[in-house]
Amino acid sequence: MSDTSYDVVNPATEEVLTTVPLADVEQTDAAVARARRAFESWRTVAPADRGRLLRRFAEQVDAHAEELAQLEVRNSGHTIGNARWEAGNVRDVLTYYSAAPERLIGKQIPVAGGVDVTFHEPLGVVGAIVPWNFPMPIAGWAFAPALAAGNAVVLKPAELTPLTAMRLAELALEAGLPEGVFTVLPGKGTVVGQRLVEHPDVRKIVFTGSTEVGKGVMRGCADRVKRVTLELGGKSANVVFADADLEKAAAGAPGAVFDNAGQDCCARSRILVQRSAYDRFMALLEPAVTGFRVEDPAMDTAQMGPLISRGQWERVSSYVPDDAPVAFRGTAPDGPGFWFPPTVLAPVDPADRAVTDEIFGPVVAVVPFEDEDDAVRIANQGEYGLSGSIWTRDLGRALRVSRGIEAGNLSVNSNSSVRYSTPFGGFKQSGLGRELGPDALHSFTEEKNVFLSTEV
Ligand code: NDP
Repeated sequence: MSDTSYDVVNPATEEVLTTVPLADVEQTDAAVARARRAFESWRTVAPADRGRLLRRFAEQVDAHAEELAQLEVRNSGHTIGNARWEAGNVRDVLTYYSAAPERLIGKQIPVAGGVDVTFHEPLGVVGAIVPWNFPMPIAGWAFAPALAAGNAVVLKPAELTPLTAMRLAELALEAGLPEGVFTVLPGKGTVVGQRLVEHPDVRKIVFTGSTEVGKGVMRGCADRVKRVTLELGGKSANVVFADADLEKAAAGAPGAVFDNAGQDCCARSRILVQRSAYDRFMALLEPAVTGFRVEDPAMDTAQMGPLISRGQWERVSSYVPDDAPVAFRGTAPDGPGFWFPPTVLAPVDPADRAVTDEIFGPVVAVVPFEDEDDAVRIANQGEYGLSGSIWTRDLGRALRVSRGIEAGNLSVNSNSSVRYSTPFGGFKQSGLGRELGPDALHSFTEEKNVFLSTEV
């Protein structure tokens, strides 16, 4: 492997798609300097005009949504259905935050002897470091609100998946965003990522990735008291009570963990089932898993594609040794590509690493529980707290358990965690801060207080 370029591989075929140059520290510094200069004028663009430019960027993304989706299928192995949603999500996030510049409203606070007002000032250059699992949406969640708040953004995509981010940067320029306002800089995490963390002119880092690397990013940011948002790992629980619509819960459970081949920080990779409903639930789960369609991700019928890389395949395989308690498995294509069949482990000892670690692959562990307290206790085990689902027909129980589980994004009788208009982020070691939702601009601005004396 070269230090100056990277061969981007199609994970469904193992063929090299293209070779991408990797930036070094000098090129990173030059990109930050350009962004710094661009920020000086970007911050002064009138709010309505900034909003208009972001809407034009959204229109460009919309006009190229199919192209972006096809590119993601080839680069990341995402199913075409998912990839279309992901391109649409970038468009929608840009559209949502295009309304924000004109609504970045401060306060007028009653004080003696004058008038007191607050401003939300942009930070300057924001560094975004994003992972390979959802290259488009995670990039958009960082750059759209950051740009709307008047910052310039330098974004480092994951080495494995740079192609859609690079295309988005071209679309931004075509939409009329000034040069240097939004830069995508492919490079290694230990080179470009680390330099963005250390660079004195980068005022904030938005990082999504592993908890281990995220801790290093936070340590690096501490040296400069640099602002940081972290979206890290998860080991979310899908909690199924005996009084739930078991058919619906079982039908939804495979998608909740195997979507994107399980490479999802919100994957419900622990299914907790009330013991009295355990056998019935497992009987319903089996056909849902064996019928889950793992196939060429370019096919409209595909529900799951391959894992992202050989390395990830090896990592995931280590959680399913020959003596693993496999209850049942789905199928996956033979031949080239990093394919791994959907796999259900049960019963699993709660201390087993398949229950405690973020596997980031299509492997789910099923754990029985006795009652509500037991469910909450097991769901809260471990240091993660990102998302989760609760299946019950009892409204009081749904609310008690939702309040009891230490996680940032919960859904009741549903497995959907992400909406651009609602806040997203983790408890405990799943992260720090929130992305998306109506308040996202506050994490890309500093609140400034100005007192104007009215005394004569
Ligand atoms: P990483 O945390 O290593 O990568 C995330 C991003 O950080 C990438 O852009 C990476 O660059 C960059 N990076 C790596 N090292 C540094 C550094 N020292 N300073 C700054 N940036 C850095 O995730 P992995 O790809 O290694 O995945 C490993 C595991 O992490 C997965 O199996 C999964 O468990 C978890 N993960 C969780 C994610 C989530 O959404 N919560 C997303 C991705 C992974 P580069 O691509 O060059 O390595």
